[in-house]
Parts: sequence; C-alpha cells; structure tokens
Amino acid sequence: MFTPAPRADFPILGRTGRGGYPLVYLDSGATSQQPFAVIDAVREAVEDHNGAVKRGSHLLAEEATIAFESAREDVARFVGAAADEIVWTSGSTQSLNLIAYVLSNVSLGRGESVPPVPGVDMDRFRLGPGDVVVTTRAEHHANLIPWQELCLRTGATLRWLDLDREGRIDLSTLDVIDEHTKVVAFTHVSNVSGAISPVSEIVSAAHAVGALAVLDACQSVPHMPVDFHALDVDFAAFSGHKMLAPTGIGALYGKRDLLRALPPYQFGGSMIELVTMEKTTYADPPARFEAGTMPVAQAIGMGAAARYLQAIGMDTIAAYEANLTKILVNGVAEIPGVHVLGPAHEANRTGTVAFSVDGVHPHDVGQYLDSKGIAVRVGHHCAQPIHRHFGVFASTRASLGPYNTEDEVRFFIDTLREVRPYFGVED
Ligand code: PMP
Repeated sequence: MFTPAPRADFPILGRTGRGGYPLVYLDSGATSQQPFAVIDAVREAVEDHNGAVKRGSHLLAEEATIAFESAREDVARFVGAAADEIVWTSGSTQSLNLIAYVLSNVSLGRGESVPPVPGVDMDRFRLGPGDVVVTTRAEHHANLIPWQELCLRTGATLRWLDLDREGRIDLSTLDVIDEHTKVVAFTHVSNVSGAISPVSEIVSAAHAVGALAVLDACQSVPHMPVDFHALDVDFAAFSGHKMLAPTGIGALYGKRDLLRALPPYQFGGSMIELVTMEKTTYADPPARFEAGTMPVAQAIGMGAAARYLQAIGMDTIAAYEANLTKILVNGVAEIPGVHVLGPAHEANRTGTVAFSVDGVHPHDVGQYLDSKGIAVRVGHHCAQPIHRHFGVFASTRASLGPYNTEDEVRFFIDTLREVRPYFGVED
C-alpha cells in the first residue's frame, strides 16, 4: 500500500500491538517513528565516528564534528534557515524556555555581556512593568508557562489571543497586540485542534508594533513545507522526535542578528571565547547557546530525518496527509456521541484530531482502542486551556504520520464506532 514514507522503512511498523493485532500507530503527534535512514545514521555515528565534537585534534573528533555540523546544515535547509540560525536544543520545550530565559537575562541587564550588533535595538528584548507578552489559548504548556514565568520575573503582563468555536485563533482578538507588546508567541499548528494558525496576520501584527514573533513549529514542521525566512518569524521551536528523528534533540531557529545580539543562558564548555578568573567573553551563535556536550548522535539522526523528509518532499507528504485527514476527521465527526475538538472538516488543518466521547472517559476510549492494536494519545496533551475552551478536561487524540494508510484510518474509525456500545452508553 502506498505511503509517501514507505512502511518498510520503519521497522517498528512491522510489529504487532496488544492482543496480536497489527500495530496501528496513530500517535505521531506525541512522538513519531524512525526510519532506517535515521536509525542507521545514529548507529553509524556511534559505531564509527564517536568523538567529542569541536574538542579534539584526533580523527574521530574531527569526523564527529563534521557529521554534527552537516546535520545542522541539513536541518537548516529543511526549515528555510541558515546553519548559524539553528541552535541545537533537547526539543521544543527547551527551545522555548531558552528564548524566554534569555529575554529575562536581558531584562536583568545582562544584554551587555555580548557585543552590540549594529541595527539591533536591545530595547526590543527588555521587558518590565507595563510591557506585554501575548500568547494564545491554544498553546501547549511549553509555549505558555515559560512566558508566564518571564512575566513574573520581569513584571510584564501576559495576555492572549482567544479562540473561536472551532478552536482556531480568533483574529478579532488581535487587538490585544498593541504598542506595549514585546513578544507574540504562538503555535503554528495546535496539538489538540490541528488548526493551522494564520501566521502572516499574527506576525504582521507583532512586527507592526516592534514585537518579536516566536513560533512553536513543533506540529507543523513534520507535516508541511515550512520556511522560517518566508514566514518572517523571529524565533521558532521544533522537535526532532516529532519529525522521525530521535528523542533528546530539537532546535531553536533565530534570525541571525537577533541571536547575535542576545546573551547566553547556560554557561560552561563550548560556548566561550576567552575565560580568565575575572571574566568571560562568549562565542558567536549558535555555539553561544550550546553549553556543554550536545546529544551528538541524536543531532546526526535529526539531520538524517530532515534529508529523508526532504527527499520525499514536504508537499507530497502534506497532500497525502490532507487526504487521510479528510477521511479521519469526517469519519470521527460522523460517529454519534463523538465530538471533534477542533475543525470538524479537513480545511486548513492537519491530521491531529482530538475528540471527546459522550459517556466514556478518554482513558477508557484509549484502552479499548489499544486492545485492538491502535495507539492513540489520551489526556490533556499538555494543553489544558484549550481543553477548557472546549468544555472538557481531557480527550482522546489520533494523529497521523506519513506512514499511515487509509486502511489504518478506516479500521480506527470502525473501532471507535464500537466504543460507546461496548461501554453500554445509550444515545
Ligand atoms: N509544542 C507543541 C505544539 C507540542 O505538541 C509539543 C509536544 N507535544 C511541544 C511543544 C513540546 O515538545 P517537546 O516535548 O518535544 O519538547
């Protein structure tokens, strides 16, 4: 059966699920599966080229450094960035915390610890009482709590864009972005509703008042072509393990001049230029933000994943997943007593589909599906405010990857249809 990412590339897809059923993996929004191209790249890095990057004069260190830096180039190319605009992190969570923490360091007066960059006004990064950080009610906690904390540390105020009935960002609330706004942090695609955000409208509103636009691209990068230069965002976060790469690796994108103007937030090896007992000068980005030993093999794996996805073509993946999304979301929406949390149709959304089932707890829904070999996610998906918006505390979520088939989606829908009768819930 055709899938843009051939199923034979993914060894795990050959195993069975609970009860000996074929595994139907519909949890790629939480973590995606890895193809041989990634597994082999990681194994080769460990087996043949393991050495401390940037620190040795010996052959292994040199080979590891070359592989590590060329992975950065591959990832940069994949998201429309330059290599020196990509900072390795452990994932989106660290990327978003990094940028929020660095802004608090500037606000505390530590912006002077790096040389000024012509054309960059450090006031853009400085927050205090009267300033505002804007986020949205659709955010994953990783793109909400760091901003709450930044506001608590600096005295700034947190405000947010609200959502419409479908869970989309409601552009009629865009007027919370005003001349007091310093940061607008928002998700490209919600990990609950699957809705694709109106990026250009929000970025334009942010830039019109001189605010920084920070994009959580964790749920978009694996599913559609993403070009950070074209989107004109100032910073963006994404995770390796959602784009067929290993866990423990991700990236922060930042516009070159902005990264160069910002001070570090963690200190130690590999991020310095000169150190005396009295003082330290810091390396240029991205090294400035990569203190200590990075997850080298995982970064190499993420480079391999970027190459693998690019070879298939993100347009191809997006078109394929759009068709599956249509079957998935319409199939779920048609089941009596089942409610899609998000757009209940395929337009302008991805194949991440959360839903509630009248009379059945999400954990029971998940367990029933699991008993038939179907892997979905249950809970609040680290996004409690958007669940509250939909009037529930938790949900079940099916999410697609480029290796899912139409048959799998249909089997999932048929099995979901059995859930309410199985638990004896009458209409
Ligand atoms: N943002 C969104 C929209 C997410 O879906 C996730 C992961 N569920 C994160 C941020 C956090 O990513 P990670 O756990 O890889 O740091």
